[in-house]
Amino acid sequence: TEPANYFFRVLMLGAPGVGKSSLTNQFMTSEYLGTNDFGISRSMEEKTVSLLVDGDESTLEFIDGLVYEMDELRSLSGDAYVVVFSITDRLSFENATDILRELHHECGTERAIILVANKSDLVRNRKVPNEEAREIADQFECKYTETSAVLNHNVDELLVGILKQILLRIGKD
Ligand code: GDP
Ligand code: MG
Repeated sequence: TEPANYFFRVLMLGAPGVGKSSLTNQFMTSEYLGTNDFGISRSMEEKTVSLLVDGDESTLEFIDGLVYEMDELRSLSGDAYVVVFSITDRLSFENATDILRELHHECGTERAIILVANKSDLVRNRKVPNEEAREIADQFECKYTETSAVLNHNVDELLVGILKQILLRIGKD
């Protein structure tokens, strides 16, 4: 069969200052250091990342920097939603929880939704326990991961995880 070319839109959501742009920029510049099942090419200008999985190319376009009202969230359509909070900022966690509740209500488990606890390097300023974030992720049936955009910790894993969650939903995992 012919290799497929997929195009997916990924929405970066969360309160201001949690690291959405930092994570998106890291997706564009970092090297993927995992298994060699993935080939990656990147475009700075378009904020897209292309990954090669089993001969099929998937291009992820990242939509970042928009501020959404809950009402607007309802009308947005993405193939994946990355909901970011900072472990140092409880309000950002509450904001992420509100977003997850809304997304769960709108899409259930139909769409890829990932809760990201960013700034994991700032352990001494942690305001949100890992277990608490995990519980919320379980409650709203989404994936959960901790990252540090500044240390580039878990960022490539997140990138690949986003794509895997999308492919799973179209039966291409
Ligand atoms: P956005 O408003 O969600 O796009 O957040 P930004 O990406 O602009 O980041 C806001 C601030 O947090 C900037 O000063 C970043 O350098 C900082 N920041 C982002 N990610 C991390 C992280 O993982 N660790 C630390 N210590 N700082 C971070
Ligand atoms: Mg930003």
